[in-house]
Amino acid sequence: MGSIADNLRQIRATLPPEGVELVAVSKFHPAEAIAAAYAAGQRSFGESRANELKTKAETLPDDIRWHFIGHLQTNKVRPVVAIASLIHSVDSARLLDAIDNEAARIGRPIDVLLQIHVAKEETKFGFHPDELIDFLTPERVASLKAARIAGVMGMASNTDDSDRITADFRAIRQVFDTLSSGVMATYPGFNIVSMGMSHDYLAAVDEGSNMVRVGSAIFGDRDY
Ligand SMILES: *Cc1c(COP(=O)(O)O)cnc(C)c1O
Repeated sequence: MGSIADNLRQIRATLPPEGVELVAVSKFHPAEAIAAAYAAGQRSFGESRANELKTKAETLPDDIRWHFIGHLQTNKVRPVVAIASLIHSVDSARLLDAIDNEAARIGRPIDVLLQIHVAKEETKFGFHPDELIDFLTPERVASLKAARIAGVMGMASNTDDSDRITADFRAIRQVFDTLSSGVMATYPGFNIVSMGMSHDYLAAVDEGSNMVRVGSAIFGDRDY
């Protein structure tokens, strides 16, 4: 692997010049790795644990946009709502309400994405497509006080089968399109499709992703 700056440059070169945001997934990597990416111009970083996000945000520059991408328990929303610019992983009504209440309580509006489950793995979190379309009624959308629904997030199956990966991304994009032309048609700022990771982000962009979450291809392997 090259340096973090080289990796970032190479990945950016494979993305369209505009219209796709690169989130550098820094989970499990030290603050020094984030600082190196920051020095190379990167400003959006993804974290998957509330405590880790909090610790890193305290020591790193204020103009970083933190993305929360991991499974979030309702008892951990407080630090995440206080820090994150975007929460990608809203996977239940209960979590959406908890985020909305906390954001209203501290007076900090927050953008969220609804996580869609299409991958074949049973353990992945998220709404199934039909479930999400049923869940997101106009009343539900109108009831939000401080959480703003900015789009959807999803993952493809963890497989080498490129047809399956393409089909998964297409299914996620389709849910976004259905919501965009339906319940979210007049909702300002419903425009993010977050999909694609180190091994499949190019396929995701081909299928209409406009936000990719790339970790190991930038920072190297993670030590869990
Ligand atoms: C860890 C993670 C990523 C980044 O994965 P890489 O394979 O390292 O690029 C992206 N999205 C989510 C939701 C993750 O948990």
